[in-house]
Amino acid sequence: LEQNVEKLTGYLARYKASGILNRIDGVDRQGSAGVFQLKSPVDKSIICDVARGAEADIDDAATAAATAFPAWRDMPATERRRILLNVADAIEARAEEIALCECWDTGQTIRFMSKAALRGAENFRYFADQIVQARDGKHLKSPTLMNVTTRVPLGPVGVITPWNTPFMLSTWKIAPALASGCTVVHKPAEDSPLTARLLVEIAEEAGLPKGVLNTVNGYGHDAGKRLTEHPAIKAIAFVGESRTGSMITKQGADTLKRMHLELGGKNPVIVFADADLERALDAVIFMIYSVNGERCTSSSRLLVQDTIREEFEAKLIERVNNIKVGHPLDPATEIGPLVSEEHYNKVVSYFDIARQGGATVAAGGETVGEQGYFIRPTLFTGANNQMRIAQEEIFGPVLTSIPFSTEEEALSIANDTQYGLTGYVWTNDLTRALRFTDKLEAGMIWVNSENVRHLHTPFGGVKASGIGRDGGDWSFEFYMEQKHIGFAI
Ligand code: NAD
Repeated sequence: LEQNVEKLTGYLARYKASGILNRIDGVDRQGSAGVFQLKSPVDKSIICDVARGAEADIDDAATAAATAFPAWRDMPATERRRILLNVADAIEARAEEIALCECWDTGQTIRFMSKAALRGAENFRYFADQIVQARDGKHLKSPTLMNVTTRVPLGPVGVITPWNTPFMLSTWKIAPALASGCTVVHKPAEDSPLTARLLVEIAEEAGLPKGVLNTVNGYGHDAGKRLTEHPAIKAIAFVGESRTGSMITKQGADTLKRMHLELGGKNPVIVFADADLERALDAVIFMIYSVNGERCTSSSRLLVQDTIREEFEAKLIERVNNIKVGHPLDPATEIGPLVSEEHYNKVVSYFDIARQGGATVAAGGETVGEQGYFIRPTLFTGANNQMRIAQEEIFGPVLTSIPFSTEEEALSIANDTQYGLTGYVWTNDLTRALRFTDKLEAGMIWVNSENVRHLHTPFGGVKASGIGRDGGDWSFEFYMEQKHIGFAI
């Protein structure tokens, strides 16, 4: 822990003097709306000032991205690939700095964030390797025409990201956009600007031409809003809350923006009595209590078959009570502080909401100390699916357990939510798994597995969890336009 704190202090020193600046057209820029302060959720200390961008800064960044676009689009794919592979190497080389900074402004633990930085490098490497094929088209011959299709990059695009695992998520959007030949204006979340700053810096040092990636910090209602409305910006890749997704869809309507929305979730994990219960227990714990539970794909609703409920919940309580809450830079810590005061107050409010709704707080349900935004990992039992704790995205290390008796009932509870991001099914009955997953309303489902991401598979949600898919060729579909050309023959 001491070593990590010392290293972090070294990494942060430069921001103390100058704050975190915007990066537009390869130049550091103050924000036109002044600054806002970045606070660490670990001890509530002020980390530094952050340049607060607003309309004028977004306009400049969009102009820079539009100016840089033709040369980036026309650069031979092999050359773009080389640059993006350099970016991946450079991310890896600074993975420790990225991880420590991410822990400090988000409260995430080093045990998970050290992997998230490497996932960022993997995202760049994966999409770089697809570049050469990305423009492949089809030949569709007809009696009078030789029809040819090809794909071309859309142009400058906006990427708006949330504060949860911000580095990994930003690269998940920015890497395929750049690989497609688009240029980018990135508006990171107010609460987590540190690693967004590192990303643009690393990318430029690795050879990304100026103006190809621009980073403007600021609030959603001014900088974010302007980005979604800017006429030069052809598409918005957004990750965040469902209600924000709905807002930016309206904001982008006048300029007919192409939108990709990755939104909230209230994902069910369904445990049938015939499952491998020890494996299921490990996965249930991992999928809600890792990454502070601040994860869109977390399984925040446990649906457990009534014949095993008592035994399963008893084991769960024992395990939850042993989860180590503490300083996020301590490698032994499993849960760090929640990202901000606002989010902490929201999550804590559900302790009373659960009690008032008639559920039992079987583990946790309390805050830890006064120094930062720490809470104990929490388990609500005796719940039903109508309760607010079963319907609303709490977005913390808080699990709601709901019993069911039949497969039919489990399916009906699982689907009775506005969301549809992920689902997790635990059973050793193959036909049931096939039947159940066919009817489960979710964009991504894992059977007898926790969430394992493979970059060539489609990532995204249904219902209020989003519109569109990332991953593999789905990402290129979003950042590129299909073009048809017919040659008379
Ligand atoms: P948020 O919606 O509050 O903010 C996300 C981003 O949108 C921020 O950068 C914010 O400044 C910006 N923003 C806010 N209002 C805006 C506006 N009017 N116009 C343009 N931009 C605006 O989300 P958050 O609290 O930062 O993140 C947590 C949420 O993100 C959770 O709901 C979580 O489930 C979701 N999420 C979803 C996925 C997924 O893949 N589906 C992944 C991670 C997080």
